[in-house]
Amino acid sequence: MSEFARTGDFCPNEACPDYGKLQDGQRQQNIKKTGKTKKGVQRYQCKTCKKTFTATTGTLFFRKRTPAHEILETLALLAEGSRISSLSRAKGFKEDTILEWLREAAQHAESLEEVLMADFKVKRGQLDALWAFVRNKGEKKLSRDR
Ligand SMILES: [Zn+2]
Repeated sequence: MSEFARTGDFCPNEACPDYGKLQDGQRQQNIKKTGKTKKGVQRYQCKTCKKTFTATTGTLFFRKRTPAHEILETLALLAEGSRISSLSRAKGFKEDTILEWLREAAQHAESLEEVLMADFKVKRGQLDALWAFVRNKGEKKLSRDR
């Protein structure tokens, strides 16, 4: 991820007027630090849109073609039991793309959980099941079973 700007350098919310604006050289910076998560991950807040984010949520979604909200919503629906094939049809994403998000998300599970639970009302048990599923199953099995 070395091509990415450091987290805390920009707002990762694509709906924000200050989305992706690097802090360097701005007279009025829109990103501020706002404490740490329970796991000790630095949390940031954008003063413009008031969204909070952590190190991982920032870098994970920056410069992806699909807006972060869409990716998170898809992950939330998967956690709630939707099948990848149905989501692919309903939302128009390729199944492979969804699988890729899922695998990437599982690697950053800890920092995504906060967002998924707070903003998308996903339950802890559903998330645990989702991550366990990604870690335990092969790709083919995953796309066929969910
Ligand atoms: Zn913002």
